[in-house]
Amino acid sequence: AILRRSLLKLKVPLQQCRMCYSSVPTTKLFIDGKFVESSTSDWLDIHNPATNELVGRVPKATQEEMLAAVDSCSRAFQSWSETSILSRQQIFLRYQQLIKDNIKELAKMITLEQGKTLADAEGDVLRGLQVVEHACSITSLMLGETLPSITKDMDTYTYRLPIGVCAGIAPFNFPAMIPLWMFPIGMVCGNTYLMKPSERVPGCTMLLAKMLQDAGAPNGTLNIIHGQHAAVNFICDHPAIKAISFVGSNRAGEYIYERGSKNGKRVQSNMGAKNHGVVMPDANKENTINQLVGAAFGAAGQRCMALSTAVFVGESREWLPELVQRAKSLRVNAGDQPGADVGPLISPEAKSRVESLIQSGVEEGAKLLLDGRNIHVKGYKNGNFVGPTILSNVTMDMKCYREEIFGPVLVVLEADNLDEAISLINRNPYGNGTAIFTTNGATARKFTHEVDVGQIGVNVPIPVPLPMFSFTGSRGSFRGDTNFYGKQGIQFYTQIKTVTSQWKAEDATLTSPAVTMPT
Ligand code: NAD
Repeated sequence: AILRRSLLKLKVPLQQCRMCYSSVPTTKLFIDGKFVESSTSDWLDIHNPATNELVGRVPKATQEEMLAAVDSCSRAFQSWSETSILSRQQIFLRYQQLIKDNIKELAKMITLEQGKTLADAEGDVLRGLQVVEHACSITSLMLGETLPSITKDMDTYTYRLPIGVCAGIAPFNFPAMIPLWMFPIGMVCGNTYLMKPSERVPGCTMLLAKMLQDAGAPNGTLNIIHGQHAAVNFICDHPAIKAISFVGSNRAGEYIYERGSKNGKRVQSNMGAKNHGVVMPDANKENTINQLVGAAFGAAGQRCMALSTAVFVGESREWLPELVQRAKSLRVNAGDQPGADVGPLISPEAKSRVESLIQSGVEEGAKLLLDGRNIHVKGYKNGNFVGPTILSNVTMDMKCYREEIFGPVLVVLEADNLDEAISLINRNPYGNGTAIFTTNGATARKFTHEVDVGQIGVNVPIPVPLPMFSFTGSRGSFRGDTNFYGKQGIQFYTQIKTVTSQWKAEDATLTSPAVTMPT
């Protein structure tokens, strides 16, 4: 660590130092129940976003390794799909307990690789844990349907069955929650699973895989590969993979949706967002300001459900100075430091992209009410920090409004009335989430009915549905037709077999062939 710090000071690329590399932990592949070192010569670095110190390396799995992983999934499917549903349920009941017991360790890994605060990292794990807990209800969720006596002596019933090998491709911003939206639901339905975590934060998925193995998941039911484009293309193309769950940016999500679908796979693709929070003048001011600040700047704005755009209606615009004061009071610091509210961004590239979007707003005429650039975080001068930033007088044509910023930046627009605010939101291409702050039920009802967005909060800034519902982002934020988790998640990972059976009494035997279409 001392050597690494000295090299950083001297600005010597760590890649040039063999000693540094040999002491850095490598992320293993998980193939057929074994954590194995990749034989690749192609590795990616993992940095702590608060310091930019090298904390690990992740392999780009070779073609042979990826083939071995999917073959292991295919073999395991033969027995796993026939395992009794009660046995699968027992494994996930043990799994949810292991996650609970190890939440601190998981959160530490998230903060190390992703940067978010420890408290927020625990929230990341808890939201994923809720999905695992819901998966434990599989004995009810997998029920089929029956309709007796559709005609004389004839009944119809359906079975809900697994589809085969499924795959998940995850983003960097929720290292626990999003992988836990994927493999637990896929596997509890009787599928086997190939997971590709984000190459920037693979550590948490590896810990989760070990816990699942400890909970009793048989070898081959979960395999993990690492990498970037080649791994993604492999998943899109391999004929044994029947379904792909993707969460990440639009660039990758649209590509994966198209390539996977062309190859005949089911694809569900959750993508980017620009979530608007509408502030009505009758709202509870104190609550609204606190909720806006928390939802815009929490996790340094790196949430797909961050409220990154505020629309002040009428005289609520007068609350802006207080909003700025409240945002200023947030403490920017490394995620593992006590009292930190806002951690660093994932990478130096993300930091410079966010800063250039702030600058574009200034150049296009927005008013910079709070500038988080050039923030100095004591003891962390190499970290990727941007402080809370607020741009007002933003218009729909500005780049800072059109693009997802994915940083601690709140852009503020104004509207004269609710209709104008709704029309603005409906013209934005994304449809992930939105919220309204009001004390008027009729206003809230009109908003929820007329706004064309998949997830709506009424006085709730981040309305991510609990797992008995589904994550229902829409329009430019989603490709596919079946959403993540909840009933829709079960539907995505299963297929239906419909049986029509007739049991006649012997004396009712047909006396001649029926050649007309049975009705
Ligand atoms: P990303 O698209 O860069 O990466 C996601 C995954 O796709 C990674 O595993 C990565 O290896 C792979 N990938 C990246 N670029 C690719 C490409 N060009 N072709 C093929 N594969 C590629 O996303 P990210 O930066 O890790 O995550 C941030 C994005 O995810 C934001 O846009 C955010 O809104 C979105 N997100 C959406 C949701 C949601 O549910 N809608 C949730 C979380 C994050």
